[in-house]
Amino acid sequence: VPRVLSGIQPTAGSFHLGNYLGAVRQWVALQESHDAFYMVVDLHAITVPQDPAELRANTRIAAAQLLAAGLDPERCTLFVQSHVPEHAQLAWVMNCLTGFGEAGRMTQFKDKSAKQGTDRTSVGLFTYPILQVADILLYQAHQVPVGEDQRQHVELTRDLAERFNGRYGETFTIPAPYILKETAKIYDLQDPSIKMSKSASSPKGLINLLDEPKSSAKKIKSAVTDTDTVIRFDAENKPGVSNLLTIYSTLTGASIAELEQKYEGKMYGALKTDLADVMVEFVTPFRDRTQSYLDDPESLDAVLAKGAEKARAVAAETLATTYDRLGFLPAK
Ligand code: ATP
Ligand code: MG
Repeated sequence: VPRVLSGIQPTAGSFHLGNYLGAVRQWVALQESHDAFYMVVDLHAITVPQDPAELRANTRIAAAQLLAAGLDPERCTLFVQSHVPEHAQLAWVMNCLTGFGEAGRMTQFKDKSAKQGTDRTSVGLFTYPILQVADILLYQAHQVPVGEDQRQHVELTRDLAERFNGRYGETFTIPAPYILKETAKIYDLQDPSIKMSKSASSPKGLINLLDEPKSSAKKIKSAVTDTDTVIRFDAENKPGVSNLLTIYSTLTGASIAELEQKYEGKMYGALKTDLADVMVEFVTPFRDRTQSYLDDPESLDAVLAKGAEKARAVAAETLATTYDRLGFLPAK
């Protein structure tokens, strides 16, 4: 059975619509056909300062949302990254294999550090794509379900896996990105030229799944569209309307063509009102399910402990092979 691996940061508490449509939705589907490993990446979260109590709470909230979205611990391995120490250990090895210039070409780092200013940017933020390389290679993943913004990091993973295999002998599976074209990039509702993001979106541009449904409905209704009035999918010339059509189509299963037909001759307001209803219908039970997992933290922690145990079995084996190939003396 082919294997998949992916992770999500616990930074903002709530997942946003881009996280769900671009990544988590695919995770749920892939657990049926793949040996799936999914994790809450708290090591990645501390690349920017985090309040300890909030980080701990947000890690549980992230896990609860993954279960609410449909991950089934019987069908996949769900765990917290810091529970598996091999991630940090393999990351060090991968750091030593990466060129400085190569790491400097990662566009996510360039964007995020430019926003923070170099004085406030940690070395961890610079090397986090390399931690991601370790995340993926530890599990010998064949595919990595992510949004478009992560494509470059999967490419780096492939390069480093090939480099290691070439230097030390076949060790790592070469992974491929698993990115669905339609939902690869969900855009900010107020600025459809940038991706919806935990760290970069303005509150009005971002739909947090755990927000009050009414507030999310309001954000849909005030989404930026364009001065034209035709409801038609055209990502280049009508990015705002196209983004709304993508969201609508994915949440309801209606095709874009069906939606274009349904709204022929109608105003943007009609589309937005209907999509706002769709959104409320989606987030209301999602929030309830998330809350019910959070109401039972012992069970939630038990799920994560079991996941970590399953993950460690795989990760420890890969790390042991890696150390051996590198020539590290075994600690007998
Ligand atoms: P940050 O801005 O702090 O990096 P984020 O919004 O990118 O946060 P992550 O936890 O880094 O959230 O990403 C989790 C997953 O969601 C990744 O696979 C990422 O590619 C995907 N993703 C994030 N934003 C979008 C988006 N706007 N459209 C589609 N996929 C997205
Ligand atoms: Mg991100």
